[in-house]
Amino acid sequence: MSHTIVHRPTRRVLVGGIPIGGGAPVVVQSMTNTDTSDIAATVAQTHELWQAGSELVRLTVNTLEAAQAVPVIRAQLDAKGCTVPLIGDFHFNGHKLLTQVPECAAALAKLRINPGNVGRGSKRDDQFATLIDFACRYDKPVRIGVNWGSLDPELLARMMDDNGQRANPHEPEAVMRHALIASALESAARAEALGLAGDHIVLSCKLSGVRDLIEVYRDLAARCDYPLHLGLTEAGMGSKGIVASTAALSVLLQEGIGDTIRVSLTPRPGESRTIEVRVAQEILQTIGLRAFTPLVTACPGCGRTTSTVFQELARDIQDWLRSQMPGWRDPYPGVEAMAVAVMGCVVNGPGESKHANVGISLPGSNETPVAPVYVDGLKTVTLKGDRIAAEFQGIVENYVKTHYGH
Ligand code: SF4
Repeated sequence: MSHTIVHRPTRRVLVGGIPIGGGAPVVVQSMTNTDTSDIAATVAQTHELWQAGSELVRLTVNTLEAAQAVPVIRAQLDAKGCTVPLIGDFHFNGHKLLTQVPECAAALAKLRINPGNVGRGSKRDDQFATLIDFACRYDKPVRIGVNWGSLDPELLARMMDDNGQRANPHEPEAVMRHALIASALESAARAEALGLAGDHIVLSCKLSGVRDLIEVYRDLAARCDYPLHLGLTEAGMGSKGIVASTAALSVLLQEGIGDTIRVSLTPRPGESRTIEVRVAQEILQTIGLRAFTPLVTACPGCGRTTSTVFQELARDIQDWLRSQMPGWRDPYPGVEAMAVAVMGCVVNGPGESKHANVGISLPGSNETPVAPVYVDGLKTVTLKGDRIAAEFQGIVENYVKTHYGH
């Protein structure tokens, strides 16, 4: 039995026209890994991420050349019809870069500031104030993005000292978690004191440990009403990164915590960056928070599966559905929530197929070589022969055209 997820109430922040928080759907974002000063490569990858479904794209702005490239990247994306808001990721020298290239601030939809990397000692406050001043002047929201890998050392040292004075000191890990939250909240309060509106602030506190992340975000969510950006930092590569991100994000999202997410996967060499967008979408869709593309329910197969036909059909239908979405999205609204089932034998095949909008139960070993197809729970046709895959695809396509957009 499913239940409705109650979103934690937050302020609403507009990022390039896209609402974050305040009851808006959870937003998917990603980050390029190109050298931002390589304009052609960054435009191409940003466009690819956007086409894959990334609703916000973050770029690193680390050099003068990168800052100068940002307005050109924005203009080239606009010329291609790619409206995705760009977020500038600033560390160490953001105050200088924006002072040298204010057009960079104008071209961005949001600034990400890491309070641990704004500066040290007496310079810290001035440099933070300069960044906030640019955000105010150009009316840009800011994500105050704390990361345990770059936690403000002065704050951590202060909190460790205070902890040492306690009669019952906390474990160092607990102090570190408290320091992450304090860094985010103190920085947000300072940004507001400097004139940044409260509805221009998003917070994040990223760690690479799943349980630590969950604990920190629960605490942060209870202590403020800023929208929260969720992500496990340094999640890793392949299935490790996907599992870790899913384990962390799904718990928080189920609790209504998280207004925008990024899945920080390390791509394999040569692998498309868009995989992180797909995983983020699939997390949201499998939880039932959003729908992006029809998903195929498929059984894992077992000793009853006769051949690779079943695996190939499940894969081909999923790939085909995904490839159709750009053309289906406008004429067939609602199609993104369609459920398709591809099952390997009679054990669970008919039952699971009946629960889907369109389902097929392929013949297992020792079964008559026929594949009953179910549409909205009713058996409509039985396929056989070499053209089962093509005919099933035709049935799904017909279902889309006759059930959505009318
Ligand atoms: S539906 Fe059939 S083929 Fe698929 S896992 Fe179950 S028993 Fe095996």
